[in-house]
Amino acid sequence: MSKSVQPIDVFARDLPRETRDAVLSSVMTRVAGRKAKLEEDYGDPDALRRLAGEVKQHTLEHLDEYLEQAEAALLKNGAKVHFASTAEDAREQVLAILNENGSKRVVKSKSMVTEEIHLNDYLEKNGVECVETDLGEFIIQIDEDTPSHIVQPIIHKNRRQVAESFEEHGLGEYNDDPQTITRRARKHLREKYLQSDAGMTGANFVSAESGRLVVVTNEGNARFGMAANGLHIALVGIEKVVPRDKDLGLFLNLLGRSATAQQLTVYTQFIKGPRSAEQPSGPEQMHVIFLDNGRSKVLASKERDILRCIRCGACLNVCPVYRQTSGHGYRAVYGGPVGAVLSPLLAGDDFPKYADLPKASSLCGACNEVCPVNIPIPELLLRLRSRANQEGIKSAGSPPMAPFAKLATSPKLWRTAMTASKAMNHLPITMMPVKPLQAWLKIRTLPKWSGGEFRRWMKERGRN
Ligand code: SF4
Repeated sequence: MSKSVQPIDVFARDLPRETRDAVLSSVMTRVAGRKAKLEEDYGDPDALRRLAGEVKQHTLEHLDEYLEQAEAALLKNGAKVHFASTAEDAREQVLAILNENGSKRVVKSKSMVTEEIHLNDYLEKNGVECVETDLGEFIIQIDEDTPSHIVQPIIHKNRRQVAESFEEHGLGEYNDDPQTITRRARKHLREKYLQSDAGMTGANFVSAESGRLVVVTNEGNARFGMAANGLHIALVGIEKVVPRDKDLGLFLNLLGRSATAQQLTVYTQFIKGPRSAEQPSGPEQMHVIFLDNGRSKVLASKERDILRCIRCGACLNVCPVYRQTSGHGYRAVYGGPVGAVLSPLLAGDDFPKYADLPKASSLCGACNEVCPVNIPIPELLLRLRSRANQEGIKSAGSPPMAPFAKLATSPKLWRTAMTASKAMNHLPITMMPVKPLQAWLKIRTLPKWSGGEFRRWMKERGRN
């Protein structure tokens, strides 16, 4: 498990080669697949991304109205609706619902918001078994690890590590064949479904118009979790609401292609409410808990665009920093470019704790180019950097800029430095003025000095 508090560059430097290779090979496959799938299927994928961004932005600007609409529709469909303003509220509400129903065994499908509020640990401490049923999340759970990617939680592991883990946890002798691993997990989890008395999910989208919850999985585990018992609890971030059912077509098409290069995620469930009298199976009770946990404050900030995010993970896959660190380097539930914006914002008063994350970016713009809802992530990162500066927050690992500022704002000092720097081409490495430069020059060659002529050129030009 990685609970490091190291600055991200130190974390990346110390990351084992095996982990880096696992992350890199996986993201490269996703990046190529996403591009091909979008270009193959749409003449102008960028126009779709812009449209999706506008729909989400519009929803955020009227979120109070759409949430009310969603609540009314869900109530009409027979669901119970709750609002949780903090992680603690949400945890308590989930436990209260389970206790009211005497539920002690929960099967859960993949959900980042439940990670965000650390639900599993809380339920375990309160005597409720909570089993992750997504294969990746299941491996994370048995390893007592944390996810390192929004869509592929075990991106940092290879199949040897997974096979070793299965052997260690009594799920069969070492065998790293992916089909064997999957079969063993399936056998184990099928029993857990049958023993369960509650199913938990998140939601990828909620239609305000109809109250439909949309849950997508590639393994069908969410539907197994709901079919096997009478209680369904869905924990949903307030930003997951979209205005109409017909908007779902746009988002589902973009989500599948951006996340996993699929036209559509394999299992896409539309859940309107608890089981009706005509339906043969499914939960008799459905509870939807809308979670705020700092989102209202983000909504009121200048960085509100980040709430458009549909958690596709595409920005992680293209980010040169994420590729070197995995999600664990970001020290928070959300990693990569989206996490570098969202984590400091959701932290509220703990902003300084994550104020270094917006610096973990080359600002190359790739994250914005792939984002299916066109979030201007580089712009948001710059805003957060500026906020950290204004608040005087010093982050570990930041290069000291004060000496450079002094040099660059004094013409006399600058001229002297420029003249002196000509000599650098001839100095041995050990005589270089600063230690980081010495380290840098061990792996690089200083370019041949070619500057210092500008002032003379300008002077001569002024005379003519
Ligand atoms: S910010 Fe955009 S690209 Fe990144 S996870 Fe969210 S929706 Fe996907």
